[in-house]
Amino acid sequence: MQTESADRCHQVVIIGGGSAGITVAASLLRRRPELDVAIVEPSSQHYYQPAFTLVGGGTYALDNTRRAIRDVVPKGATLIQAAVTALAPDDNAVQLDDGQRLGYSQLVMVPGIKLDWGRVDGLAATLGKNGVCSNYSPGTVRYTWQCLDAFSGGNAIFTQPPPLKCAGAPQKIAYLAADHVKRKGLGDKSTLKFYSGGGALFSVPAFVPPLERVARRHGVEVILSHDLVAVDGERKVATFEMQNAEGEKTRVEQDFDLLHVTPHQCAPDFIAQSPLAGAGGWVEVDKATTQHVRYPNVFSLGDASSLPTSKTLAAVRKQAPVTVKNLLANIDGKALTAQYDGYTSCPLVTDYGRVMIAEFIYDGVVTPTLPLDPFKETRFYWWVKKHFLPAFYWKQMLTGREWDIAHKPRKTS
Ligand SMILES: Cc1cc2nc3c(=O)[nH]c(=O)nc-3n(C[C@H](O)[C@H](O)[C@H](O)COP(=O)(O)OP(=O)(O)OC[C@H]3O[C@@H](n4cnc5c(N)ncnc54)[C@H](O)[C@@H]3O)c2cc1C
Repeated sequence: MQTESADRCHQVVIIGGGSAGITVAASLLRRRPELDVAIVEPSSQHYYQPAFTLVGGGTYALDNTRRAIRDVVPKGATLIQAAVTALAPDDNAVQLDDGQRLGYSQLVMVPGIKLDWGRVDGLAATLGKNGVCSNYSPGTVRYTWQCLDAFSGGNAIFTQPPPLKCAGAPQKIAYLAADHVKRKGLGDKSTLKFYSGGGALFSVPAFVPPLERVARRHGVEVILSHDLVAVDGERKVATFEMQNAEGEKTRVEQDFDLLHVTPHQCAPDFIAQSPLAGAGGWVEVDKATTQHVRYPNVFSLGDASSLPTSKTLAAVRKQAPVTVKNLLANIDGKALTAQYDGYTSCPLVTDYGRVMIAEFIYDGVVTPTLPLDPFKETRFYWWVKKHFLPAFYWKQMLTGREWDIAHKPRKTS
């Protein structure tokens, strides 16, 4: 099955050593230690990104979100430190940026999402100065806290484009900022605005009213259908584009003292330009089995996949065992029986000390793990977000241990 023109071949090649890549590799090797698994990953670091929100809020150390990639690659897997530049699924091969061509029998596509900082005019030049910050990258997240800590009143603006990973993250930092501003006694001197390019505050309608109440409580004005298109850091002006029902576009300018930007996000170019891509450029997989719809020896999960659910690490945790079982069945020539139901979850930080956890499956059906009110902000869930989940990630999920409590649909009214 492997291509003859490849420089080297592995039985299973995993593209990306992020949350999905390491979890799948560890789980595969736990079940079948003799497998020949290679992980292609250009970065020397691995990050637990969900804690970036807390780093930006000044309540978590960036160092605690990262490990050396070599320390998280499971024993028995081969790490190839390179980036994939092109895909040749008809030859069962991928092209690496070091010039090598890598062959495979089974391919797992998990290179994450592309952060498109260049989509907003002027953003790249001013990010990290002039009060323009972002929790979305390890290189910029500490500046968010510097900006918040130094904020002495004025306009604090938060943006959200569609689509994005962790659709709650742009709101979380807005609520932390509002709480911080209030604690510093700057409430009367400050205006907080949340601009979303989408038409709703959250994708699952059941969570919209409780989140609107949180925004109102914090005095955060929510402005929908406004997409950030330009930033002038020197003048401290952000420009938003809005489109009316007739498709006419108008632009509005907004002064800021602090601007937290969530970058536009899209499928990585090398996927979008490949035969693996479907609509939107994502790896086109079956929504239940995670197997590619045209190439049966290709699987995908996580942010780069077409799985029609909210892109989160919590989703990866439930997708990974499904991919692993089905990939092994595929190697064995058996039917693929494991099914993913669209589970995803977003711990919505609503102030310093409280969290509401939005858990749902396909079609927006609310499915909490614990028998607690899913729309209530609690201190218990703050503890889960800040302490339990990071430890669980490093010790359980990344090591391929699939400890789980089944989520269940519950009445929401
Ligand atoms: C600010 C923020 C807050 C978040 N909050 C939460 C939360 O509270 N809860 C939650 O569940 N999720 C949250 N997430 C989302 C979560 O982190 C992602 O959904 C998750 O990491 C996706 O895993 P992945 O493996 O698909 O992608 P990633 O973990 O991003 O990994 C992708 C890997 O692929 C590598 N790669 C990229 N290009 C190539 C290439 N060409 N060749 C080879 N490798 C490549 C990258 O270097 C990276 O290591 C948050 C994310 C952010 C940024």
